[in-house]
Amino acid sequence: MKFKELPPVKEQIRKCVRCGRCRTVCPVFAEVKNETVAPRGHVFMVQMLRDGVVKPDSKVYEHLSKCLLCETCSTFCPSGIDIHELNAAARSFITENQSNPGKRLVFDTLWTSPKLLRASTAFMWSANVTGLMKLARALHLTKVLPGDLPKAEQILDRVPFRSARDQLHETIPAQGKKKLRVAYFLGCATNLLHPEVALATVKVLTQSGCEVVIPRDLKCCGLPHIANGKLGTARSLLLHNFELLSRAKVDYIVTDCASCSSALSDKNVRFVLGQEEIDANLALTAGKVVDLTAFLVNVLDIGPGNLVKRSEHRLTYHDPCHLAKAQNIRKEPRELLRLVPGVELVEMAEPDRCCGGSGTFALTHYDMSMKILDKKMSAIRNTGCDTVATCCPSCSMQLAYGFRRSRVNGKVVHPVELLAQALP
Ligand code: SF4
Ligand code: SF4
Repeated sequence: MKFKELPPVKEQIRKCVRCGRCRTVCPVFAEVKNETVAPRGHVFMVQMLRDGVVKPDSKVYEHLSKCLLCETCSTFCPSGIDIHELNAAARSFITENQSNPGKRLVFDTLWTSPKLLRASTAFMWSANVTGLMKLARALHLTKVLPGDLPKAEQILDRVPFRSARDQLHETIPAQGKKKLRVAYFLGCATNLLHPEVALATVKVLTQSGCEVVIPRDLKCCGLPHIANGKLGTARSLLLHNFELLSRAKVDYIVTDCASCSSALSDKNVRFVLGQEEIDANLALTAGKVVDLTAFLVNVLDIGPGNLVKRSEHRLTYHDPCHLAKAQNIRKEPRELLRLVPGVELVEMAEPDRCCGGSGTFALTHYDMSMKILDKKMSAIRNTGCDTVATCCPSCSMQLAYGFRRSRVNGKVVHPVELLAQALP
């Protein structure tokens, strides 16, 4: 669908009353204090782009890309404008009008192929264990990387040797009486960088009576593509994944990654397809998607029953934007944490303030990302906790880097890991 015809671009822009409320909550504007990077400024910019007042060039893209797509502004806009969708649509419009072979290689080739992604993380693993990475850093060879990557490559600390897929069968039976058949949408980052979270998810689901199916050919949820101006590729990925998920004939589709659950949500599907209403089959599949934390609390009604093993943890919880703002899931992760014997949950100030990771933002806007991260780490420090729980692999990586950067021996966990540890 054409940029000008996309529902947010066609319908929503005119609702902006220029009140500036969105500016007051934007973490990027809080750092830069410049209208060109404020959400209101982005709305104005998209309007000018739509009306042909500015050209779809790299200068406009650069302004629009100074946004985490955290959705904070959209949840505060009194006119109900999905500001982040306007921004993402405009990025795609500009990308379509430019030739960018590097972006094509990363987002159309590498990030659409689970095999190539796996191969690249295997390469990173070898570079880490053979010391090549250390050597490359010492010789400043990493400085030849494009954009902010020379600085940002440190965010990725370790790459496990075995992915979650290498360790899990396609179908894992329920333990005891089967209650439900559930598809587990195993996201790229959890699969390749946090396999321990995937193993914990499967353990908790199967011990709660779910037969778990992990369709082999699932691909990326498409969120990195949306953020990087590749809406068309995100559309192909979404249709591919939904076809597989609908064939799996499951009761629910569950994921432990906040970004994946928001990408597969009914609202995002309508945005990516550029439709106010989506086809009944797609709507049926999207209606089955539920974030793991909400599934465990609201569907399985998980209780303290089987959580018998005690381990002492004094921790705080960070709300991922894609869970709290995009899906309004805030109480469920906390409820799960409080179920674990020995866990003391201490709230930090502004727990839903963005950590600055936002998928690829930290890789493209490193300095800005670090300023936002510093605020988050200070809120964590003030709780006196050295463990943070969160439900998004991107936040997890960013917060772990925040600990390393401030030379604190801290730890980041997914609530499901603590649940799994408490099970027999
Ligand atoms: S909050 Fe909404 S209506 Fe107000 S300036 Fe921002 S986009 Fe416009
Ligand atoms: S999505 Fe987040 S970073 Fe982007 S303009 Fe809105 S509040 Fe600011």
